[in-house]
Amino acid sequence: MIKFLDLQKINLSHQAEIEERLLNTFRSGWYLLGNEVKTFEEHLASYIGAKHAIGVANGLDALRLILRAYIEMGVMQKGDEIIVPANTYIASILAISDNGLVPVLVEPSLYDYNIDVTNIEEKITSKTKGILIVHLYGRVVFSERLKEIAEKHQLKIIEDNAQAIGAAWKGIKTGNLGDAAGFSFYPGKNLGALGDAGGVTTNDETLAKNIRALANYGSNQKYVNIYQGLNSRLDEIQAAVLDVKLNYIDAENNRRKEIAARYIAEIKNPNVILPENPCDTAEHVWHIFIIRTENREKLQNYLTENGVQTLIHYPIPPHKQEAYKEWNDLSFPITEKIHDEVLSLPISPVMSEDEVSAVISALNNY
Ligand SMILES: *Cc1c(COP(=O)(O)O)cnc(C)c1O
Repeated sequence: MIKFLDLQKINLSHQAEIEERLLNTFRSGWYLLGNEVKTFEEHLASYIGAKHAIGVANGLDALRLILRAYIEMGVMQKGDEIIVPANTYIASILAISDNGLVPVLVEPSLYDYNIDVTNIEEKITSKTKGILIVHLYGRVVFSERLKEIAEKHQLKIIEDNAQAIGAAWKGIKTGNLGDAAGFSFYPGKNLGALGDAGGVTTNDETLAKNIRALANYGSNQKYVNIYQGLNSRLDEIQAAVLDVKLNYIDAENNRRKEIAARYIAEIKNPNVILPENPCDTAEHVWHIFIIRTENREKLQNYLTENGVQTLIHYPIPPHKQEAYKEWNDLSFPITEKIHDEVLSLPISPVMSEDEVSAVISALNNY
């Protein structure tokens, strides 16, 4: 069976370095708010090109904390609206509603599955304070048009960069395109920890300070609390692992790009719609390689029988979830079509050429 993602193989490809750093951290006796986190934050900020990076507990918290900090700073208040793609992983939306802000869902384009910038302006009201863009599947969603809209209506651009670390638009990395960005280092992400981990990047010093305080009980100084914060910290063990793996992210993303290029060039089947390879290959880091097909269940079963493991990202759109009952009757036909038709093929930096060939043959023989 060709695994969708062989995490063990990915992490063992850095075994010696990771084990050394883990052992050092274990023996140091210092497990939170120490040098490993500080070092990783510095390396992450410099990799992204942003002034500040803050390690937090996970990707959802990264986004929650950005919005919470904007509320504490008076930039946003409860009841304000945040534009967000209807086609996303639900965490993007949870971060908004968790803060008492109102998610305003916008349809994606069928071209790249990301938010369709031409649908944004009609959704802007006097209460709109931000646009949360999601670089879904690892594909950059950014444009001059988006920047203009944000400037014209004085909206913050917040990036959900959980899936696109290492991608860039016109030489600027995702995580440095908007006002602030949330990262997930969930084990299966392109830069994955050995458990939950996340981060925020921003060039806004006030925002960075506030997020750091909010993630630490609302305190910048021990036992002095300026906010009713939470505990959402990156720990030393995860930071040590991430700091090793950050050195390899470009090489690993490049391997993903090679595999994606082969899939796009060699999969030839009228029942399969392939994703677009952007003209500038920097704009996609292929966290997920999705195809679309009308009878997904049939294709997925066929691939399983032929030794290819696939997953669905994602089977139920956020507006159809019980968690958001109030939206269940809304209609987002493009989002629904995507959720009905997408299937994710195996892609990872440790896949061999033979495995890639086997996936291609299986699809071409379908
Ligand atoms: C993974 C993911 C998140 C949440 O990250 P966690 O670390 O799992 O909390 C948020 N948004 C998107 C698009 C994701 O893929």
